[in-house]
Amino acid sequence: MSLKFVKGNKAVYFPTLNFEGKVPRSYSFKDLGYTTSLIDSAKKWLKDNRYRCDEQGMVDFGFPVISMRKNRGGIHIAIDESPNVRISTIFYNHIEIPADNIFTRAHEEAHAAVHLGLGKKLAEMIGYANYENLDSEDFCDKAGVYTLGKNGLNVPSSLLVPHKRRLEIVENSMAVAAHNEHL
Ligand SMILES: [Zn+2]
Repeated sequence: MSLKFVKGNKAVYFPTLNFEGKVPRSYSFKDLGYTTSLIDSAKKWLKDNRYRCDEQGMVDFGFPVISMRKNRGGIHIAIDESPNVRISTIFYNHIEIPADNIFTRAHEEAHAAVHLGLGKKLAEMIGYANYENLDSEDFCDKAGVYTLGKNGLNVPSSLLVPHKRRLEIVENSMAVAAHNEHL
C-alpha cells in the first residue's frame, strides 16, 4: 500500500449497483473482476501487497480459507491505512446463474461503498435510510436484492437467508474484513 493523503474529492462509480458517490481523493476502489479461484486471487493480492502469500499467510491476514475453498462468491478486502486513506478491493467468481452473479457483484460493491463512506447515500438509493442499524452483511444483501430488481431478475430463495458469515481482524493500523458470500 502506498497511497498518500491528497486533498479534495473524486467520484467513484460502482457499475453493478449503478451507483456513484464522491469520496476523498485518497480513497481507492479496486475491482479486480472475475476470478476462477478466490484462493489464487487472494494469494496474488497478498503477494502484490507484500504480505506472506501462502495458505498460512491467508489465515494470518484473516481470509476465511475454508469457505473460500468452496469457490463460490466474492471477497471484499478493506484496508484502512489511516482515517484519510482507505482502499477497498473486490473480486468474485463468475456464477453461471445470472441472478447469483449480479447479486454477488452488487454485494461486494456495497461493502466497498460502505467502507469508502458511501453507505448512507447507497442506503438512500436502495430505500434503507436507517442502514446504520442493519448488520453490514444484511445491508449488502439488500443492495444485492435491490440490484436484481433493477435488472428485472427474480430473487432466488437461497439469497433471502440472513448473512451470518463475517470476519474482521484488526492488525496494527490496518482493519481488514474479508469473507466469502452466501455459501
Ligand atoms: Zn459480505
